[in-house]
This record gives sequence, C-alpha cells and structure tokens, in this order.
Amino acid sequence: MLENKDKQLTPLEQMGEFGLIKHLTKDFKLNQETTELGIGDDAAVLDFKTKKTVISTDLLIEGVHFDLAYMPLKHLGYKAVIVNLSDIYAMNALATQITVSIAISNRFPLEALEEFYAGVAMACKIYNVDLVGGDTTSSTKGMLISVTAMGIVDEDKLTYRSGAKPNDLLVVSGDLGGAYFGLQVLEREKEVFKVNPNNQPDLEPYSYVVERQLKPEARKDIVTILEKLEVKPTAMIDISDGLSSEILHLCNSSNLGCNLFEEKIPLDPTVINAAEEFSIDSTMVALSGGEDYELLFTIAQADYDKIKGNPNLTVIGHMTDADQGAHLVTRGNEKIELKARGWNSFS
Ligand code: ADP
Ligand code: MG
Repeated sequence: MLENKDKQLTPLEQMGEFGLIKHLTKDFKLNQETTELGIGDDAAVLDFKTKKTVISTDLLIEGVHFDLAYMPLKHLGYKAVIVNLSDIYAMNALATQITVSIAISNRFPLEALEEFYAGVAMACKIYNVDLVGGDTTSSTKGMLISVTAMGIVDEDKLTYRSGAKPNDLLVVSGDLGGAYFGLQVLEREKEVFKVNPNNQPDLEPYSYVVERQLKPEARKDIVTILEKLEVKPTAMIDISDGLSSEILHLCNSSNLGCNLFEEKIPLDPTVINAAEEFSIDSTMVALSGGEDYELLFTIAQADYDKIKGNPNLTVIGHMTDADQGAHLVTRGNEKIELKARGWNSFS
C-alpha cells in the first residue's frame, strides 16, 4: 500500500485543499446532457426535465467496510462508485451523476488519492456517469468515503421494493456467493502474509471470486435488457447483504410471502469449489454472504416467456400470499423458514 514513508511521495499538506481538488478532478469530463454545471461552484446544477430523479448515498469507513491491507486504492475508488450505482439500477433507473466525498489522514500521500480517483474515473467512464462534486477534508485516523449517486427514470418504469404481487416470479441476475469467498481468500492470504511476508500467494484459482470482492460490477446491463425485452419488473432490490435478507425486504415491502428453491440458486463453479475447500455450505453463502451486487426482482408470470433462456437471468422462486410465509425449499424438498441471516447461525 502507498503510505507516506517514501520520500518520493507527495505529502498532502503540500497541495492545499483547492489545489488538491483541482488536481484530482481535472481529467473528469462531463458527458450527461442532464449535467448543466459540475465541479467548481458552490453546487452542481442538474436538469432532469420530465424524468423522475433517484438519489442514493453510501458511507464507507476504513476498517469497517474496507481493509487497505488487501484492497488496492484504485479498486476501492471503483467499488465505492459501483455500490452506489447498484442502488440506482435497483430502482430500474439509469445513473447519471455522482458526488464523491473523502476524509483522509495525512498518512496518505497525494499518489494514494490519485490511485483512488483513477478507480473513480474508470467507473465513471464504464458506467457513463459524471462526477459533479464532493467534499474533501482531513480525518485524524484512517479514510472515510461517501458517494452519492443520482439517476433518472421514466415514471412508469420506476420500480420499488413494494410492487410484487402473489404468484410473481422471483428472478436474480448473475450468480451469488462469489464476493464472500473472495473475501475469505483475501483474509486468509493476509494472515499468511503476517506470518511470512515473502510468501507469494497464488490467487489464480480464485481469480473469479477475488474479482467479485475487489472489483464488483453494477448490473446496468440488466436495466437495459429488461427495457429491450419489454419487461417491467414489479419489484426490485440490489443484493448487497445476501439473498435471504433482500428477499425478505421484498416480501415485507410488498406484504407477501415466497418460496425460494435451493436448487435454482445460481452458483459459479468456482464458488462451488471454494465452498468445498472452506467447508461452508454454498447455499448458506448465497443466502447470507453479501456484496454480490446482483439485482433481485419479481415479474408477472405472463412475462416469463420474454426472459426465459436469457443467460443473465435465473428464476429462483415465486411470491405467495403473506400468510404462507417466506420459505426456502431445499434440494431434499424440505420447507424451511427464511431468516435474514440464512437458515441457521452464520458468522
Ligand atoms: P465548499 O467550501 O463550498 O464545500 P469546496 O472547496 O469543498 O467548496 O469545493 C469546491 C468544488 O469542488 C465544489 O464544486 C465541490 O463539489 C468540488 N469538490 C470538493 N471536493 C471534491 C471531491 N473530493 N471530489 C469531487 N469534487 C469535489
Ligand atoms: Mg467543501
């Protein structure tokens, strides 16, 4: 990690706040037609015209949400943006602008912030969002990051957690559990490194799960696919905490129950292998692991033909009346009540 021990690195004190902001943000271009004014005045100016505006914020704290021992700063910048964009897509909206605020201690040199902003810039480019502001301040210890994302959507496409109907199909994008195992692999390597700093970890067999942890993507493509397929999800949420807690959010907000079929939960082969190696049940990880940033949504049964066969989408269950409760139907055809943290204690 870049720390201020190296004499060739530039201490932040040398920059001054305005110089620092200017330096870090000078290469960001504005591409969105809804951005009238970006960085440089007291506030950004946006014009969303007839569209509905969606806004979401996250706060990330070093040592709580990320560990710089294995999280490169560029990845951190990227991920900090991605987790916010994911919330915008979960409204069936498209992200248009972000603001990025950081608090940092003077143990970080300028070069560390350049890395962080390189990650932010990459996310802005790939997801076509404008960086339109933020705040920069010092912290006595560690690093804090807050990102706010804004997006737009036609009113009739706006999708809440509360819109699911009984018998709607429960659909998930991508596959689950990877980010959790990525974290397990990285934590393990960190411990090995503490004992033997010369050990070169071979992360190759774990590249998929490590990437899911360090460089997650937000499913903008799903919003676009659903629009093309002319499917309006009845309810949607992004999977930041784990499948079971997100399903329960949909059930509670829509005042429904559900049946989730264990055998339908999409898992990457790497996840299945890692589950064996770490002796953890892969279903439990999909249910409770978190940080996968896939989209979970419900659709009317009548729309099934439009989505079936799409390799990005898997039907994993269906909604029921609230009095039926929320259940996992296991491979052995047992019905187990869904809990926010899997179906037994998990830590
Ligand atoms: P103020 O004193 O009004 O908070 P600042 O000097 O903090 O103004 O910010 C000046 C401009 O730079 C504003 O447009 C602000 O949004 C932007 N800005 C400040 N910090 C950041 C940052 N970390 N990333 C992006 N833009 C920033
Ligand atoms: Mg400020």
